[in-house]
Amino acid sequence: MKLTNLPLDFSSASLLAEANRCVACGLCLPHCPTYRITLSEADSPRGRIALMSGVASERIPMNARFALHIDRCLTCRACEAVCPNHVAYGHLIDGTRAMMTEASSALPKRDVTMQKSRLRTLVEREFIAKPTRLDAVRPLVRLYQTSGLQALVRKSGILGKTKFAAALEAQLPFVGIPCSASNKTAKSWQAIYPATGSLRGEIGLFLGCVARLADVATLNAAIFVLNRLGYTVHVPPTQTCCGALHQHGGDITTAEHLARQNMTAFDRLNLHAIISTASGCGVQLTESPLNSFIKVIDISDFLEKAEGWNDVRISPLPYKIAVHEPCSLRNVLHGAAHPYALLARIPGASIVPLSGNDQCCGAAGTYFLDQPEMAKVLLDDKIAAMDKSGGHYLATSNIGCALHMASALRQAGSKIEVLHPVTLLARQMGMPF
Ligand code: SF4
Ligand code: SF4
Repeated sequence: MKLTNLPLDFSSASLLAEANRCVACGLCLPHCPTYRITLSEADSPRGRIALMSGVASERIPMNARFALHIDRCLTCRACEAVCPNHVAYGHLIDGTRAMMTEASSALPKRDVTMQKSRLRTLVEREFIAKPTRLDAVRPLVRLYQTSGLQALVRKSGILGKTKFAAALEAQLPFVGIPCSASNKTAKSWQAIYPATGSLRGEIGLFLGCVARLADVATLNAAIFVLNRLGYTVHVPPTQTCCGALHQHGGDITTAEHLARQNMTAFDRLNLHAIISTASGCGVQLTESPLNSFIKVIDISDFLEKAEGWNDVRISPLPYKIAVHEPCSLRNVLHGAAHPYALLARIPGASIVPLSGNDQCCGAAGTYFLDQPEMAKVLLDDKIAAMDKSGGHYLATSNIGCALHMASALRQAGSKIEVLHPVTLLARQMGMPF
């Protein structure tokens, strides 16, 4: 294995060259969620690209006003998906944030919006970037939930004064236990889950960071379905976070370090593919050098084309399932159709798209924490669409979107269940939960 294409080229020259490819046609503007809200050119893709170009060429200063418009970008890449000139907006925004991070230490203290909090940096580097530490806290989080303390905390509103903690706690779903053939108190996932029946392939499963705690059900479901279809699942224990949060936050050094660690973890396993269950991680992995030596595929895409369906039984589910299309799946992986095809395997289910699927839900990594007002406008639209859909379930393929929407539905007293399409499928295939 060669560790090629690292480091990423986010030099001013590279950013300027890409920004200059924008012909300012404005076709992306109606697709941009932030432009739709503020109607300000500076909050549009075209306006942001002009600002980036101005700063990279030192024609305008990198100040708090510049940071405000860059920070408001969701990195949803809806603009990139419709750009006739194929301007690589994702590369531009990541590069610009890296440039801002590099410059932030030299900025005057009043430019507070450009300074990352120490706590945030600590969490991203010492917790998210080292996800085995999340495995270690799982028993404590489960105790917090099963002892009734969580219900008390939520009822008391005690976290209300600490907005950061309250926002995180509000999103915390019930935390499950990694599946294991022999041990009901498994600390993490096994290195190998052998296929049931005849072997059709050897694949790797990417766990992610937050998903290890907040989306155990989906990871277990992916293993269950893949095993039943005849695929042996490898879960290398040295894999780590995909680095998306770090890269989108301007911490390129950590993102590159994580990419190298993942390449080492999956190397030499002789896999047909690496499966990602969260489309946000899937984008980061497919755009990393990892994808050049092992194909990274979203779970719904892989399962749609997988063999072995004639050997499994799927129970009917006579309910409506509304499908949310995460920006990462729709705009970058171009795989929005796959979850529909997968859910169509469930007899009796009525599958409908959630209206407004062309707009971001506002979760966008840590956007809901950084830009809560903008995120709320976008979230309110999703909740209204969900109410209108009459859906019993809301299926989404990205953990960040799922937590964001589930939290709002829970607070509104809704009984709608938010879950990954593969979790629903696994249940109907008889997976015990
Ligand atoms: S669609 Fe592309 S070329 Fe046109 S303004 Fe937007 S980014 Fe620039
Ligand atoms: S990434 Fe999304 S929010 Fe940012 S400029 Fe493009 S469309 Fe707008």
